[in-house]
Amino acid sequence: MDCVFCQIIKGKIPAQLVYEDDTSVAFLDINPTTPGHTLVMPKAHHANFEEIDEAGLAAVMRAVKKVGQSLKDNLGVAGYNVYENNDPIAGQVIPHIHFHVIPRYPGDGLELWPQGKYESGEAEKILNKIKIN
Ligand code: 5GP
Ligand code: ZN
Repeated sequence: MDCVFCQIIKGKIPAQLVYEDDTSVAFLDINPTTPGHTLVMPKAHHANFEEIDEAGLAAVMRAVKKVGQSLKDNLGVAGYNVYENNDPIAGQVIPHIHFHVIPRYPGDGLELWPQGKYESGEAEKILNKIKIN
């Protein structure tokens, strides 16, 4: 397995550990968007949301919550973003599911994605395709 995050988890590549429990780990992103940008992930290798089961996801989200709280408590930030790039088209470079927890500072320059508008009837067509009954 040539996964860089698995190698970090096994201790073969160094990382700056923020949090660890039996199933999850969190370490500083090597190229932070803002200071304190942390990656939180399961220790087990799962590529994406489709591969990880609900219990594994719930465990990682508990770790995300702990990390977010530490950023607020210890960096004094008023908020943070939680991102997960699911698959390469969504910007996922490392196929080991991970959540970016990015502390926000006033004027940090991080812009969210652009927003558009639906054409007439387009939202209903999309909704009919994706609605889960
Ligand atoms: P993705 O685009 O897959 O959602 O995000 C991958 C993230 O992993 C990037 O933000 C990148 O900076 C970070 N990263 C890549 N290689 C390493 C590494 O070896 N160590 C650490 N700490 N972060 C890494
Ligand atoms: Zn992995």
